[in-house]
Amino acid sequence: MPNARRPANPLAAKKRFGQNFLVDRNVLERIVAAAQLTPGDRVIEIGPGRGALTRELLAAGSEVWAVEIDRDLQRFLENEFSGEHNFHLVPRDILQTSLSNLLDPPFKVVGNLPYNISTAILERLAAERSLFTDAVLMFQREVAMRLLAGPDDPDRGYLSIIAQASFEIEKCFDIGPGAFRPSPKVWSTVLRFIPRPDNVFDRAEARSLVSKGFSQRRKMLRNTLKGVAGAEDVLDLSRRAESLTLEEWEMLAKSLV
Ligand code: SAM
Repeated sequence: MPNARRPANPLAAKKRFGQNFLVDRNVLERIVAAAQLTPGDRVIEIGPGRGALTRELLAAGSEVWAVEIDRDLQRFLENEFSGEHNFHLVPRDILQTSLSNLLDPPFKVVGNLPYNISTAILERLAAERSLFTDAVLMFQREVAMRLLAGPDDPDRGYLSIIAQASFEIEKCFDIGPGAFRPSPKVWSTVLRFIPRPDNVFDRAEARSLVSKGFSQRRKMLRNTLKGVAGAEDVLDLSRRAESLTLEEWEMLAKSLV
């Protein structure tokens, strides 16, 4: 008996790679506008997928290095952009890729990120931020709110402090689920990151201090930073971690680590 089942479509969205493809032209144009490209700019695109954003980046005159993990999409992209001399496929896992090995600085970074690993990607980008001028990236809206949260915002946490220490972060715009296929259950937000100079939070000890401070959100710093010698000389420890400004965290970290 011949097998009546149709072969699986290799380009169908794969959940494990966080694939939700952008299909709204207006949104694609707004992302490219947020990236403030000038012809000849060199861009690393994280997760090109079926190339919707890639096409717009190339049309804006950029030279694109597109980092894609999915073998089926790698084949598709090679084929789709075979005549395009400004397109370079990087068939790799972005979490295993050092940007400095891809091209010489400076460059830009753009990506509609796979949501399951978006903060891990941002952490890697923070470590290599001296290489690029800016990054325009899409996150799940809840994550974007944590990245943007200022003092006393209930969304403020470890991620807010570490991201804001590494980048000036601008909110560009929100996107509803209807702009993607398949449609995610959540809204998305596009953010622009401008690298900040090296600072104390590039040190693991400073990051671990922040992590300690936020380990029990409802507690005062007096409890969470118990055992951190000298903390009381720098700050009023009856405060909670989320109330501190970035400058106060910086002051604390500089005097303690
Ligand atoms: N840019 C496309 C778009 O907007 O339609 C696709 C965006 S989709 C949300 C995320 C893309 O990242 C997918 O193409 C997925 O295969 C790719 N991806 C997932 N994990 C990756 C990884 N570790 N390294 C590189 N690409 C990855």
